[in-house]
Amino acid sequence: MPRNDIAVVGAGLVGALVATLLTQRGFRVTVYEKRPDPRLAGFSGGRSINLALAERGLHALRATGLADQVLGQAVMMRGRMVHDPAGHSGLQRYGVDDSEVIWSVSRGGLNTLMLDAAEAAGATIHFGQGLAGADFERGTLTLHAADGSERTVEAPVVIGADGAGSALRAAMHRHAPLGERVEELGHGYKELEIPPGSDPGAPFAIERNALHIWPRGHYMCIALPNREGSFTVTLFLPNEGEHPSFRTIAGAGAAEAFFRTEFPDALDLMPDFAADWSEHPVGSLATLYLDRWHIGGRALLIGDAAHAIVPFHGQGMNCGFEDAAELATLFAATPGDPAAVFAAFEATRKPNADAIAQMALENYVEMRDKVADPRFLRMRELGGL
Ligand code: FAD
Repeated sequence: MPRNDIAVVGAGLVGALVATLLTQRGFRVTVYEKRPDPRLAGFSGGRSINLALAERGLHALRATGLADQVLGQAVMMRGRMVHDPAGHSGLQRYGVDDSEVIWSVSRGGLNTLMLDAAEAAGATIHFGQGLAGADFERGTLTLHAADGSERTVEAPVVIGADGAGSALRAAMHRHAPLGERVEELGHGYKELEIPPGSDPGAPFAIERNALHIWPRGHYMCIALPNREGSFTVTLFLPNEGEHPSFRTIAGAGAAEAFFRTEFPDALDLMPDFAADWSEHPVGSLATLYLDRWHIGGRALLIGDAAHAIVPFHGQGMNCGFEDAAELATLFAATPGDPAAVFAAFEATRKPNADAIAQMALENYVEMRDKVADPRFLRMRELGGL
């Protein structure tokens, strides 16, 4: 493999972006993705249906020339629309005007656009090829295909963008411990839907240009708009406990009764509530901390594979996009020395990742509790939720 060849594991949001940026800077990039091509098979396996894109992520997308296309698919969110238990709502703006907003984007739409961009730039993406193991002495990866076959490929320089459950991280950890610590939040999430209304001229059942929050103390619902007029609603709730929790609210009937008491206005907008509740799984939430993100110049973790965080600042993807932009800049400056690039990347990005991990945990308390307090008004310093 020539010196400027780079392998990327994972063609999710961060993997597709880093592949695009590195290819645009003259590297020959090969990506291995476990899932089938979502452009052919349909998008599945994402962690949320839509996400909030903020200035940090947009800044990284601008480096690829993709920002305008992404914003063309997004819905602007000017602030938090806070819904109280009596059914009243009020908008808390993120900034003074529309120059300080965040954007709701479809995960599937964004991933598709970025896969197209990576291939258009010249990256090669192999779908249906899951990483099964790595030999960092030999510089090889073992890949597992859906039909059960395995093959070994050369990859002296590999970037792991394979998400929170990273197989590359596990292989690196077997080679040399990374100091991994996972802190479970103890709260999970379930996604529901407010469908578009029947009027095609005005399909949004609630304010379109806002991130909706129903804060209720120890738990909350949020809703982000989708372009065609629906909203993806996410309930965040403790997993265990005698008070409302995913354990005590097991079936759709109990869930409906809970919503009737706590979120009656939202429930009225969800005709398929019972089916959604029964069919959609409870997702888990945790923060991943690592002492080390790389093995010399052979392997590096980025995005959720390095620093998965809880979603309450809406910054996981945004932070991963910043990783991709920073890594591409460092590689372009020192193309022949991946060990120096990886060390500089870790030194620059780790303090940022540690800070946002903490802020994301704190923002859960703010969103589910303090935003409901009329005395509480704080300017958003990061473009978070
Ligand atoms: P992923 O998106 O997980 O992609 C990993 C890719 O690697 C996938 O394509 C996967 O198939 C592939 N893969 C996995 N294993 C292998 C393997 N063995 N071999 C090859 N490929 C493999 N972030 C925001 O910025 N804003 C938000 O509003 C927001 N909301 C969120 C809401 C929820 C409920 C959750 C759970 C997260 C949210 N996030 C948000 C965080 C965001 O989803 C992640 O930070 C982001 O998806 C990380 O991107 P990634 O590419 O690093 O990992």
